[in-house]
Formats: sequence, structure tokens, C-alpha cells
Amino acid sequence: MRTATLAYGATSSTAPLGPLTIERRAPGDLDVAIDILYCGVCHSDLHTARGEWGGTQYPSVPGHEIVGRVTATGALVSKFQVGDLVGVGCMVDSCQHCQPCGDGLEQYCENGFTGTYNGPEQGTGANTFGGYSAQIVVRENFVLKITHDAGSLAAVAPLLCAGITTYSPLRQWSAGPGKKVGIVGLGGLGHMGVKIARAMGAHVVLFTTSADKRDDALRLGAHEVVVSKNADEMAAHANSFDLIVNTVAAPHNLDAFLALLTLDGTMTLVGAPGSPHPAPNVFSLIMKRRRLAGSLIGGIRETQEMLDFCAQHGIVSDIETIRMDEINDAYERMLKSDVRYRFVIDMGTLQTTP
Ligand code: NAP
Ligand code: ZN
Repeated sequence: MRTATLAYGATSSTAPLGPLTIERRAPGDLDVAIDILYCGVCHSDLHTARGEWGGTQYPSVPGHEIVGRVTATGALVSKFQVGDLVGVGCMVDSCQHCQPCGDGLEQYCENGFTGTYNGPEQGTGANTFGGYSAQIVVRENFVLKITHDAGSLAAVAPLLCAGITTYSPLRQWSAGPGKKVGIVGLGGLGHMGVKIARAMGAHVVLFTTSADKRDDALRLGAHEVVVSKNADEMAAHANSFDLIVNTVAAPHNLDAFLALLTLDGTMTLVGAPGSPHPAPNVFSLIMKRRRLAGSLIGGIRETQEMLDFCAQHGIVSDIETIRMDEINDAYERMLKSDVRYRFVIDMGTLQTTP
């Protein structure tokens, strides 16, 4: 039996988001049913709702930074109980039998993981609907435990995507003491990257196009801030970075950042613009054996590790809480880089939205 659930989403790439009714499956033996309390607003939500990556199924209900309370558990669920505070990130399922799934790298599932929104659901192929909704039903293996105190729940939500998407490459490329790490873009992902890289012990430099974010970047944990439009400030860091994590959501000149990497340094792209970056100059790479890499969110085991790491280090997101019906304005502000530093929807406001 399926349950009608209130949600908010887009019916086409050009339509603003508005109220919708969707259906959720009844929890199966391995499922957890969750009342959604808060949902973060990721730039990927906007890319998807507006069809910027292609392949969006409509209606589209975005939202993959979900925190909420368990309301029911299937007969075989062992890790969660009714009443637990839990999180759900960018994935709700995967094949569970390929090599990457076995290695805890479900985001690289060879048979395709199931996104929290814009599916396809394993088995049925049905479209999935995300966290801009009152409830969600998720397979136990894709539900995360929240160990932060309950009072910071809204600010924990963005860890489920922005947190893990920066934590994973920082771990993969060994950010830590003695390493010089750059974070490009001070938005949702970037501000989490700054906090996490600092907590890992790296020397952190934040690159921004918005000079007025300088003080915030230092407060958030950056040791230095570079306004990337300023060629002299950029040149002062030439050939010096072990790792740069680039979170920018728009096409831009990658050579300007590749030139800042040291011998064998790596720039990892996590930002996913709707249209390509200009191709980098080959000489930017070959002259110092530099690497240009990419990274996709993080596996479930690593997401739990990140949540526990953030709880231990007192890390949450800096958020602006919005009502559900403010989402279209929030998207416009996000496009202007005017978010300090993550919008989080109070899902209690969904019920009262006309
Ligand atoms: P966001 O909050 O909008 O932040 C992006 C930041 O990029 C902006 O705050 C701005 O920072 C900078 N920026 C924007 N336009 C720019 C331009 N034209 N030139 C230079 N810098 C610009 O977005 P987000 O939620 O952090 O997401 C960032 C990107 O990561 C999106 O494309 C999203 O889809 C992608 N993403 C990827 C993954 C993954 O697994 N790889 C996961 C989640 C999200 P400044 O003002 O400081 O310059
Ligand atoms: Zn996201």
C-alpha cells in the first residue's frame, strides 16, 4: 500500500517549484520510514529541477540533505528504532552486489545507484522523490545515525551532501598536517570544505570570487583567503598546493588553479556545472606531473565516518533557515552566490504552505 505524501517540486524545467502530492511505498522488511524535519538546499537540486544536466524526470522533487525522525521500521531492521534521529544523503539504494558496493563505494555502483531524487528505484525503475517532502521511506543500509545534539539538527542536514562531498576527496588525497589545501568557492560545499580541511589539520586557503566573503572565510577556518579575480594574489601561491578541491558550480578557467599546484599536486573537481569548463592547457598538467581529478559524494560508510568526525570536532553547517515556499527565491539567491552558507528548509512549513 502506498501513502500519499505532501511534497514540493517542479513539473517542468521552466516551472517554479510548487506543492505536489507524491506517493511513498509502505516500509518493507528492510525499510525505515522517516518524518522529515529539515532538508538542506544543494546547488544540485537547482541543476536537476531546471534540467541543467539533462535527464530530469518530472515531476521532480529535489532534496538530498535530509534529517528526520524514524516513525516505523521493517521487521528485519536492526540498526534503527522508532524515535531515532537519522539522516539520508544523496543515495537511497544501490545494487549491493558489485565490487564498489562491496567496498562501501555505493556512489560508484557498477549497476547504478538510486539517487534520493531522480531515481531510478532498484527493481521497479520508478522515479524517486527527495527531501522536499513530509516523509520518506529508505532502505536501512542507506540511513545514517546522527550523533550531534538534537538542538543542532537543522545545521547537521547539509553534512549529508555538502559535508561528505568535500570530506571524501580531502580524505582520498590525504589532507592533514603539512599539506597545503585549497578550496575554490565559498558556497555550501566550499564552506564545509574549509571547516573539515581545517579540522583535519591542513593549511587551508580559500579561493573566492566574492571579496566580501573574506572575513567569513577566515572565521570559518581558512588560514588565508585569495580573491581569485586578483592575478597578483593568485601568483603569490604558484606551484605550492598539494590539493585543491574545486566546488564552483559554473564553467571557469581551470588553468588559473592548475598553475597553483606543486609537483604531483591534484585538483579535484566536485562542482558540476551544466555546461563544460574550457579545456585546460595540457602544459598546465605535464610540466609538473599534475593531476586533474573528480569525486562524487561519498559511500555510506564514509558518510557515517564524516558525521562522527564532524560531531567530534563540533562541526555543523552555517545555515539560513527558510520556509518551503521561499525555495524559488532561495534558488535565485544561490545563483548570485548570495547564500551564507547553506539554505535549510524547515519542513514543518510544508504543511502550512498554500
Ligand atoms: P553553491 O552554494 O551555489 O556554491 C558555489 C560557489 O561557487 C558560489 O558560492 C561561488 O563562491 C562560486 N561560484 C559560483 N559561480 C561562479 C562563477 N561563475 N565563477 C567562479 N565562482 C563561482 O553550490 P553548492 O551547493 O556548494 O554546489 C557546488 C557545485 O557542486 C554544484 O555544481 C553542485 O551541483 C555540485 N555538487 C557536486 C557533488 C559531487 O558529488 N561531486 C555533490 C554536491 C554538489 P564564491 O562567491 O566564493 O566565488
Ligand atoms: Zn548535493
